[in-house]
Order: sequence, then structure tokens, then C-alpha cells
Amino acid sequence: RPLVGVLALQGDVADHERALAACGATTRRVRRAAELAGLDGLVLPGGESTAIDTLARVTGLRDPLRAALAAGLPAYGSCAGMILLARELLDGRPDQQTFGGLDVAVRRNAFGRQTDSFEADLDVRGVPGGPVHAVFIRAPWVERAGPDVEVLASVTVPADGSTRAVAVRQGALLATSFHPEATDDRRLHAYFLAHCLPG
Ligand code: GLN
Repeated sequence: RPLVGVLALQGDVADHERALAACGATTRRVRRAAELAGLDGLVLPGGESTAIDTLARVTGLRDPLRAALAAGLPAYGSCAGMILLARELLDGRPDQQTFGGLDVAVRRNAFGRQTDSFEADLDVRGVPGGPVHAVFIRAPWVERAGPDVEVLASVTVPADGSTRAVAVRQGALLATSFHPEATDDRRLHAYFLAHCLPG
């Protein structure tokens, strides 16, 4: 059984734990640097990226976590977690930082006020069994992606009909704008375990 950490500074930690356990993983809450040791992967939950950033800095977790991601720790970030994995952040708070790792520019709260929460059925490349019901809650989107980043899913923005990338993978790193942990659909977590963790 893989040992998967769930970053537990703030956000929907328990929902990710349930999803990972349902997929056969053992989970560990990560609040301090020592808890990164021996992990096969890490999930960064949805929540509030500014709060998670602040707490990571005051607890001293930020720099070891950055280093672990840079060294290749597999990770999956949903929503706020996507923001935290992004190399570049657009519309962040003035002093907001990310952990980085994923070669993308992510726009925070991108969908705007009228549509800041909505749901859509999305085909996700590599996820079999039909569309994923995607829940967006004040979600970011991927505005630019580097050459090694594969776009797995895009959504039509309700407000203006444009198309935006909302699920991406770069090697061992996976990120979604939406929250599969808020549904009973475990396929994104299963995808992470199957494709991003070392065989
Ligand atoms: N808007 C939040 C942020 O900036 C993300 C929302 C979410 O994770 N549901 O972190």
C-alpha cells in the first residue's frame, strides 16, 4: 500500500483522506517537515491557498516541502492545492507565495464572481469510464502551461464561453481546478496513485 501524505494545515483534508483510503492508500497528515519523510506521494487539498501558504511559512514546512517537490515527490493538488503547486501565480495576494514544481501559471479565483462556483461534466484524458462531475468552488484555472505539461481536461467558462485548462499533469505532479474529493468519484485519486507514484 502506498503511503500518501495529506497536507493538513487547512482545507478539506478529511475528504482527501477518505478518497485515498478508498483507493487503497495509507494516509498521513503532514503539518511538519519530519512528516514528509518516507512518503510515496502528497496531496495538497482544496481550501484557502493564502492560509495554507501563511501556515506553511510559520511552521517551517514551506522550504522542506518546496525542496521535496523539486526533488520529485509525487503530488496532487486540488483547487487551492493547484495554486500551491504552480510555478507562477496570477491574482494572488500581494505577498502570497507558492511551493512550485508545476510549470504553469495559475490564475486564482479566475472564474469571477457570477460563476465562482459551478459544476460541469468533463472528459479527463486518461480517466476511463465517462465524464467526471467536476465541482468548482472559487476555483483557479491554468492560464499558461510549459512544454512538459499535459492538459488532461478543459472547461467552457460559463461567463464568456472561453475554454480553460482545469486538469494538468507534469510527470509525477497532478493538479485539478475542481474538487473530486467533494464527490464519491474516486477516479482522479486512483489516477494519481496509478500514474504519478513510482511503480
Ligand atoms: N479561492 C481559493 C484560494 O485561493 C481556492 C478555493 C478552493 O480551494 N476551493 O485558495
